[in-house]
Parts: sequence; C-alpha cells; structure tokens
Amino acid sequence: MISETSKAWIQAGKILAENPETQVRCPEKADGFLTVQDVTAPTDPTRFERYLVCDVCGARNILLMRE
Ligand SMILES: [Zn+2]
Repeated sequence: MISETSKAWIQAGKILAENPETQVRCPEKADGFLTVQDVTAPTDPTRFERYLVCDVCGARNILLMRE
C-alpha cells in the first residue's frame, strides 16, 4: 500500500528529473513549491543526489540520480 503523499513525491521526482526548472507543489501540504539542489556523491562522480525541499514547510525527499 502506497500513500497518496508517496505517489505525489514520486510524481514530483519524475517531473523534476526531466526538468529541474519546473515549479512543483509541495507533495506534503501543497503549501509551497519544491526547490531542487543537486549534490554529487563524493565517491562516485557519475551519481548525484537531487534534494527536493519545500520552500515553506521544509518537507524534503532525496532522489538518487545517474548522469
Ligand atoms: Zn510544504
């Protein structure tokens, strides 16, 4: 069983994986927009982590990306 909130995060992740400039509503509370921050993994330069953070409530999720 997967919650609606989890589905919303997955959807947000898909949208932002394709276009990080897209404005995506906070999946938790729909109170703000997600900001995207990419952090390269120190051990593996072909991977990076994409942090999705709500600019209002601070809800966050991390996607592991490959270049
Ligand atoms: Zn929020």
